[in-house]
Order: sequence, then C-alpha cells, then structure tokens
Amino acid sequence: MEAVRLSASGDPEDAVLRLDSLDSQSQTAVLRALRGRLYGDYRSDAISKAGEMIRNYDYEGAANMLAPLVELQSGADPEAERLFSACRALSDTEVFKGPVEHIFFHPLIAYPELAFDGDSMQKGFDDYFVTVPEFKEILNELYQRGYILIDIRLLYKADENGAVTKPELKIPKGKKPLVLSIDDLNFYRYMKKNGMAHGFAIDGEGKIVTFTDRPDGTRTYSDDNEIVPILERFVSEHPDFSYGGARGIIASTGYEGTLGFRTDETDAPDYLETCAEAKKIADKLKEMGWIFACHSYGHNSPSKRTVEQMKKDCDRWIEEARPILGFTDIYIYPFGELIKDSDPKFQYLQERGYRMFCGVQKTPYLRYHPDYVLQQRRNIDGIALKSSDRITDMLDVSKIIDPKRPKG
Ligand SMILES: [Zn+2]
Repeated sequence: MEAVRLSASGDPEDAVLRLDSLDSQSQTAVLRALRGRLYGDYRSDAISKAGEMIRNYDYEGAANMLAPLVELQSGADPEAERLFSACRALSDTEVFKGPVEHIFFHPLIAYPELAFDGDSMQKGFDDYFVTVPEFKEILNELYQRGYILIDIRLLYKADENGAVTKPELKIPKGKKPLVLSIDDLNFYRYMKKNGMAHGFAIDGEGKIVTFTDRPDGTRTYSDDNEIVPILERFVSEHPDFSYGGARGIIASTGYEGTLGFRTDETDAPDYLETCAEAKKIADKLKEMGWIFACHSYGHNSPSKRTVEQMKKDCDRWIEEARPILGFTDIYIYPFGELIKDSDPKFQYLQERGYRMFCGVQKTPYLRYHPDYVLQQRRNIDGIALKSSDRITDMLDVSKIIDPKRPKG
C-alpha cells in the first residue's frame, strides 16, 4: 500500500524502490506493467528510428533496428514484421534504366451521389475524376504489378546556378519506379459542392483525416475518402510500395487558397491564424513524405495569358502559397499545357526557381535539358479508365470502373 500511496504523491521512482514491501502477487503485477511500458517505449523508438533510416534509404540499418522487435514478439507484432520484411526486400537495389511512370489524379469523388447527380457538372466529374473504390483498386493493381512510389527528386539534380543533371537512378531490385501526383488539392468550392471532401484536419492520434460539412450543419471526419489518408493506410499495410518513405506530389494553385485554407484572403482579420493552420497541415504532409508543386496561381491556360499576367500569377503563388508549402522547384502546368522553353513566360518560371516541369501525355516521357527537366504524366481519370488504350498497359481497367459512374 505504501508504494501506491507514494506513487500517488507523484514520485513513481520512489514507489518502485519500495516494491519489496509488496506481497509477491502485487510485485509481479507491477513488474509486468513496467516491462510492458518499457517494451512499448522501446518499440515506438525502434519504429521511429527505422522510419528515419528508411527516409535516408538506409534499409539495412532499418532492418537491423527492427530485427529485435520481430524476434521478441515472434509473430505477435504484424506491423513490425511487415516493415522488417519490406526493409529486407528493398535493401537490394539496382540501376533502373526503363521508363519512369508518372501518374496523376484529381481529388477523389467521396460522395458519388453528389458528383453524379445529373447536373451540368456531372460530365466533368465523370471525365476527370476517380471514385474512392476506383482509387483503392488502382493501388492494389499497381502494387501487384511491382510498382513502387519514388520521390520525383531522385530523377534530377539542380545546382544553385540552375544547371540540371540526371543522376543514376537506383531502386530496389525487381520494382518499377512510380511517381504519383494530385492536382488541385485545394478543396475548391465547386468540388466541395459536388462530392469531394471539404478539407484536411489532424485527428487525436496526429493523423491526417478529411472533414466534410453536411447540409444539417454537422461535420464528419474520415480517413477513408481522400488520396492522402487512403495511401497512408495502404503503405502501412504494404511498406514495400514506397521507396525511401515517398508518397506523392501535391500540385497546388492559390486562387481559392492553399490546402483548403483561404490564404488568398490576405486582408481577412484572421489571416495570420489561417496561415498558421494551413502550415500545420502542410508540415504534417511533408513529414509523411508528401512534397508540393506549383500548379500556377489562377489555373489559367498559359497560352491565353500575356507575359505580364503570367509573371504576376507566378509571383502571387510565391507570395501566398510558398510561405505555407515551402520552396519547390516543381511546376505542374495547368491543363497540362506546355510552354516552349524559348518563350519569356517559361524563362520567367525558370528565373523564379522552377527546374522540373510536368505536363500530360499518354506515354511516359522524361527529357533532360541543360537547365530544366520535362516529365510528362498520365492522367488516371474517367476518360483514361474508359479508353481502350490509355492505361491498359498499367492497369486492368475492367476491374476498376465504379458501377456508380453514369451509364452511357
Ligand atoms: Zn489542374
């Protein structure tokens, strides 16, 4: 009883020193609890250190860090075991010389009944978006076919003078590198009205979830209706789907704010608080392995803008979105519309630090120039899924198409 009393007075160490005064049954209970807590601390420390090593591509180090957990738990810790065997499998690398696929999505249709409600926007959602079940099946198939997510920054090196070079790409043996991006993850008004989630939040466990405000005024949270949390779960169940902790690229505009926060309303009285909230989400996403790209500020077709308008657009993104998302040298063209490198509009983008440019094309494309790289991306959306030749070499579309899509 003495031990318990002292513990309650706030000195647990003293209480432990008095263990002897307890009867043996109580002693055993206390020791068991202590051992459990010690093991728990050791486990979370080992998993977080292994994560750090994985982010530095030190898979052998990570496997060594996890080996004792697997040994001690002999089958009772599936998460540690999955991570351990992934580290073993991914530590053997080879130079990859084949084409590097880059696929992109728009935010997911979380509520098909709102996207496919027969209004004037239904066709646009049917053409350019995928639903939650479709995205999950796409992940399954990509994984089954040996793709592994990589950080696009493994594909190029840019020095401070703007020179760009191609590094040797080494990836785990037998895997195919895959870059993934999400365009327009800004939680635009038109998307919120038509079946997309309404924004990001961080839940009680520190995980990214989405929220959606329902017409009755209630707010619901979900970890199962947007790419970020769905991919997070998929990678935790299949750690060998991500190389070096890579996730994907979030291509953001600025005209309706950043990551769902109205960072464009710079005169709003709560502007600083809004920016701070947005930055919390952005920092969390970076910690998870996501990186950011500029998708222009206003999402206008580059060819329809004057050089001056284009410069303004570029600067405004840097002023409003960069403080939240951080520096990026990746530019993802709105509408996938390329600008020629002889065009002053392109040269201004280079002047402002962009080195990796991405458009849209049916086949993988990656070309190095002395001062920039161009990679083309394949759209995965309704058009691609319904086409007989767009992505059938990567995916079995017949297994993917959601029956909730409009017929015909
Ligand atoms: Zn876009």
